[in-house]
Amino acid sequence: MQFYSTNNPTLRASLKEAIFKGLPEDKGLFMPVEIPRLSDHFLQHLTDYSFQEIAFEITRNLLHQDIPEKEIRRIVETAIDFPAPAVKLDDDTYILELFHGPSLAFKDFGARFMAQTMAYFNQHEEKELVILVATSGDTGGAVAAGFYKTPGIQVVILYPSGKVSPLQEKQLTALGHNITALEVDGTFDDCQALVKKAFTDKEVNEPIRLSSANSINIARLIPQSFYYFEAFKQVTGQGKPVVFSIPSGNFGNLTAGLMAQKMGLPIEHFIAATNANDVVPEYLTSGAFTPRPSQRTLSNAMDVGAPSNFARMLDLYCSTWNNMRHDISGFGFSDTETKQAMREIKQRYNYIIDPHGAVGYLALRKYQETHPGHLGVVLETAHPSKFIEDVESILEQPIEVPERLQVLSNAEKHSVRMSTNYADFKSWLLERF
Ligand SMILES: *Cc1c(COP(=O)(O)O)cnc(C)c1O
Repeated sequence: MQFYSTNNPTLRASLKEAIFKGLPEDKGLFMPVEIPRLSDHFLQHLTDYSFQEIAFEITRNLLHQDIPEKEIRRIVETAIDFPAPAVKLDDDTYILELFHGPSLAFKDFGARFMAQTMAYFNQHEEKELVILVATSGDTGGAVAAGFYKTPGIQVVILYPSGKVSPLQEKQLTALGHNITALEVDGTFDDCQALVKKAFTDKEVNEPIRLSSANSINIARLIPQSFYYFEAFKQVTGQGKPVVFSIPSGNFGNLTAGLMAQKMGLPIEHFIAATNANDVVPEYLTSGAFTPRPSQRTLSNAMDVGAPSNFARMLDLYCSTWNNMRHDISGFGFSDTETKQAMREIKQRYNYIIDPHGAVGYLALRKYQETHPGHLGVVLETAHPSKFIEDVESILEQPIEVPERLQVLSNAEKHSVRMSTNYADFKSWLLERF
């Protein structure tokens, strides 16, 4: 499979280049030149396939020219080793639980698949690969867990000291082995500036093989299409049109759904669900895209004012507003509405949803007001215990913490203190690798 840039349709990059570069030089985003349709037999017999087999069929269809089948099977089986169950609330409403991976959020799918794919392309290299990531909390945990003990790959995660939650900090600092956490005496922007500078510094990136693992890497998007098929398999059979409601920030998850539709999955409609950071719903309503600084909300993993994957969405619709509107509706909700929805879901269905999923639920209900008889699947992007303080105070009850999280909170923290001075970071890198 070849990739072009959303800023230059004539550019061509291989899968390996697209994955290791992350971004094309022209600062666009990589997109597949072609998204081939899956066979009708596969699409009509999804229920005959396990989740891993579905993931295998999709990956083979996309990447068979780049990676041998045997290796694709290994990548998929190692990366996708946890389920994505669709829990029924009522006849028209399902919650797709995407939090059964190690970091309890859907980002595990992308991070684990990317780690395995990078390890495959890296296996014959003599020098180890060093991945630099700046995190404000959320992505870092999935990347750390995804790359943990991956042969030939070292991960350095920079996070702002005192500015991530205690649990997020544990996710970055407790693993050890090939994961090193740098605790930076500064802000997230300082962390990002250090990483950016290292990438452009020849004295660093010539002796050290550097790569990034940011959320716009195409290797993270591909596996996020798997669970749309897996959900469809579980809810189909009622003969109703199926719509997906996607709690969104950078719109990677929604873009992966659009790719699943291109591969032939008969999704009737997409619902872009946001908090107060509603530039995409606004675009879908008015045709005007106005990125702006993000606002802080309860569903903070979606606090994005300039969604990076919007360029990919535009690309898929040839920048035509009317075409995009035909397939996607968008709604934004306040924190007050989100809290109410969390309480309502608990009372009506005895289901505990996290603030991000609650935004998705609200958007689905809004859509169903004008589209009765549509079966909706809400993507539940994180486990409620990731936001335990908020969820417990909103629902006024204690909630259960999965064991894999409990284990982490008792683990020891290991971090390296780092100033915001680039010279310090540089000499640490050169000494360490
Ligand atoms: C990252 C994240 C989102 C937003 O996903 P995008 O693909 O960036 O739209 C939503 N919910 C949670 C819990 C997240 O971590």
